[in-house]
Amino acid sequence: DIFGEERKNSMGVNMNITSESEPFFKALDTYKETQWTAGPLVDGETITNNGIEVLSPFDTRQVVGKVTHATTPVIEQALSSATSAFNDWCRTPVEVRATALQKLADLLEENREELIALCTREAGKSLQDGIDEVREAVDFCRYYAVQAKKMMAQPELMPGPTGELNELFLQGRGVFVCISPWNFPLAIFLGQVTAALAAGNTVIAKPAEQTCLVGYRAVQLAHEAGIPTNVLQFLPGTGATVGATLTADERIGGVCFTGSTVTAKRINMTLAERNGAIIPLIAETGGQNAMVVDSTSQPEQVVNDVVSSSFTSAGQRCSALRVLYIQDDIADRVLDVMQGAMDELSIGHPGLVKTDVGPVIDATAKNNLNAHIDHIKQVGRLIKQIDLPEGTEHGHFVAPTAVEIDSIKVLEKEHFGPILHVIRYKSNELDKVIADINSTGFGLTLGIHSRNEGHALDIASKVDVGNVYINRNQIGAVVGVQPFGGQGLSGTGPKAGGPHYLTRFVTEKTRTNNI
Ligand code: GLU
Repeated sequence: DIFGEERKNSMGVNMNITSESEPFFKALDTYKETQWTAGPLVDGETITNNGIEVLSPFDTRQVVGKVTHATTPVIEQALSSATSAFNDWCRTPVEVRATALQKLADLLEENREELIALCTREAGKSLQDGIDEVREAVDFCRYYAVQAKKMMAQPELMPGPTGELNELFLQGRGVFVCISPWNFPLAIFLGQVTAALAAGNTVIAKPAEQTCLVGYRAVQLAHEAGIPTNVLQFLPGTGATVGATLTADERIGGVCFTGSTVTAKRINMTLAERNGAIIPLIAETGGQNAMVVDSTSQPEQVVNDVVSSSFTSAGQRCSALRVLYIQDDIADRVLDVMQGAMDELSIGHPGLVKTDVGPVIDATAKNNLNAHIDHIKQVGRLIKQIDLPEGTEHGHFVAPTAVEIDSIKVLEKEHFGPILHVIRYKSNELDKVIADINSTGFGLTLGIHSRNEGHALDIASKVDVGNVYINRNQIGAVVGVQPFGGQGLSGTGPKAGGPHYLTRFVTEKTRTNNI
């Protein structure tokens, strides 16, 4: 058993097995028209007023529910209550905390269809992405439960050369503010929250503005699983109000953030300037992810992996491929096959099994991406743009596009959507390719396609990134299998779903005992 006795990754739903897929679709169907409501969940009480309507990204005529944002007094109540709750929670035996997270994993699986329906209808996730999202969330709960017990159940015994008893304890830091993104509204949301809770922190969770309904439901389930309501507080709202107030507060003990590099830097400034302790920021931010394909690679496999890395999830993954470097002697062949594969992409309603590419998250994202496409078509040469099919006009759909450019330097920032940039290189230019990729300052994922192992490993060692994938796609890191996270402009380097992640959420205390 490669995962060990204690834990297995979740299996999801196998669409090829009727006994699994039939009940799944039946259950999913019951959430087709559900209207959800969400609001701040403070000490277990939900605060709602009229709320803001949530519209579906694939059809903005469809209302999914209503969300009430947190006001200043509500934020204050959550902060003060989470602060008082810390003392008890950090002294609660780690086994008790872990048991609640295991229970949460079970509840997520029991409520899988509702959560997938929410991911589809609120975030525009495809069905497969929704299934994977719940799996990942479940895996995070179980993984951190096991890790916390391993790390925290007993102090680490240090040598005692003079006869003293030296013990090293890990304990929670205080109130952790968890600020999560809309692209993994359940998995990253709960990944942050469960890591912080497992390590003995109390948590104030601020979901992305676009995906409060999913976050709210997750917090309800966490409370049902036994996480005390004062230990986990939920505050929907904007970054400018809720995020800024929380990160400026001197009572907090740490911040875990996934989102843009610009916002991460802003949070760092706020933390530095506020009164109170010096506290950590755990940040996972953007990327300018490349794939390097040499002439020994297998074109059909390359195409499969390029298409899934760039266009599935509508390119809205931090890990997604943005810049394909392809050796010129294989380029025409690969690009030709790739255009055929792009033609086969099914774009449309994310709730359908056949859909490969759903909408992007909102109108702002759509407009920015389309502006970039218009611009880059002028700067470079269009390889292929898929026409959007009928039925997509009421949603935030962006046409999957591949453009050839001369240098990665024409891209000033990350474009978080289904846009692939292609650059040809000659065999004697590899050092320059590596230097150019490193020059972006980002360092999240790197794909390599080559059948020359020495060559592939050499590239892998020279590009400064957090996750390298050789001869496969570069998305979909699995908890406990591919610990995920970047470096440089891509983040402060913790690996979500890895064995060292929880160390970022604790303080260490050495006790030297001469009794
Ligand atoms: N962990 C995800 C993956 O490997 C990406 C996470 C993100 O987009 O932040 O695809």
